[in-house]
Amino acid sequence: MSGGLGFSGAPDVIVIVLAPQGEMVEHDSFFDLCAASRDLYPEFVAEVEGLSGTSVGYRRDGTLLVAADEEECRILEEAFASQSRMGLPLERLEARTLGERVAGLSPRIRCGLFVPGDHWVDNERLCRALVESCARQGVVFRRGDGARKINVQGQRVKTVESDSGSVFSAAKFILAAGCWSAELVAPLGISLPMQPCRGQMIEFECDRELPLVVRAGHHYLVPRSPGRILAGTTVEYEGFEKPVTGEGLISILDATSRFAPLVKSLRFRRAWAGLRPDTADHKPILGLGDLENLIFATGHFRNGILLAPITAKIISEIVLTGKPAGGLEAYHPSRFARQRA
Ligand SMILES: Cc1cc2nc3c(=O)[nH]c(=O)nc-3n(C[C@H](O)[C@H](O)[C@H](O)COP(=O)(O)OP(=O)(O)OC[C@H]3O[C@@H](n4cnc5c(N)ncnc54)[C@H](O)[C@@H]3O)c2cc1C
Repeated sequence: MSGGLGFSGAPDVIVIVLAPQGEMVEHDSFFDLCAASRDLYPEFVAEVEGLSGTSVGYRRDGTLLVAADEEECRILEEAFASQSRMGLPLERLEARTLGERVAGLSPRIRCGLFVPGDHWVDNERLCRALVESCARQGVVFRRGDGARKINVQGQRVKTVESDSGSVFSAAKFILAAGCWSAELVAPLGISLPMQPCRGQMIEFECDRELPLVVRAGHHYLVPRSPGRILAGTTVEYEGFEKPVTGEGLISILDATSRFAPLVKSLRFRRAWAGLRPDTADHKPILGLGDLENLIFATGHFRNGILLAPITAKIISEIVLTGKPAGGLEAYHPSRFARQRA
């Protein structure tokens, strides 16, 4: 997902696991939002692929969650118990049978869960296809020209000024500038408690394909065909810089090779870092706030790609009807100010 008040520059390269079940233990309304978005994915992908004429590498082979120590096993057991109660498909696997699913896993793995509902997508291809789909529908992209200033009159955004000095007026504006969203609306007196959360990734070349996503806690290996595997990630709060660091790479290598020693023999191809737009409660900021025509679509933290279809649905409904969508209280732009009051 990439955007803003206009698009600027190339999107960050990130790995995408569309995995509400792989990520979560608790059943709450945010889980439901993630699951609803995952369920929209097949339709979303079909539409984007149809409009762009390109494949986005969407796969539905599931995720294997593994645990190597007692604490990790306990977390998996909790996930199994709570998600089974919700009727979600989840298969408990004996450690000795894990090798039948994925070759190259550690014999130290003590337990595993297979999540057949999890999907994944090649986010670089998805971004390119989205841009192409939009362009073919008549969307105009102004690359390299960011939004600089939002001008308000009464309770409405009147215009947006860009870095190049252009001034844009519109009936409605969408704020989707990732972790840079807060600084854009701060001069309007709108306080969004957001911060960038850096994540580093490594891409390897491999001779054999990984059949599915394997993850242990926040670390994972993701197949990226042809002949590629991605390993991630880090969770770092170090400001807006996004260098790839030795410490970051070591932590990814240590964690992933602990559950999949095959990582040690893979050929390094490249590494990069991206910034996740985190919020004070780690939930996205969606919908209309106090200004009548400024729609928020930001703060998606670790789930922006998973949440892309539901975000698109919610935001397009608001744009088309002009009415605030129901059921979005937990994601309201003003919730932080209300909590502070
Ligand atoms: C390592 C890593 C792994 C991840 N893995 C997953 C995953 O497995 N599944 C998942 O669902 N999510 C994942 N995420 C999270 C996901 O990438 C984010 O939630 C998502 O990118 C947020 O999308 P966004 O468009 O809101 O923000 P961004 O992707 O940050 O895009 C914001 C855009 O706004 C532009 N912009 C900024 N300021 C301005 C301005 N003033 N004017 C115009 N444009 C501006 C920026 O240039 C940028 O292009 C991962 C993130 C990282 C870093």
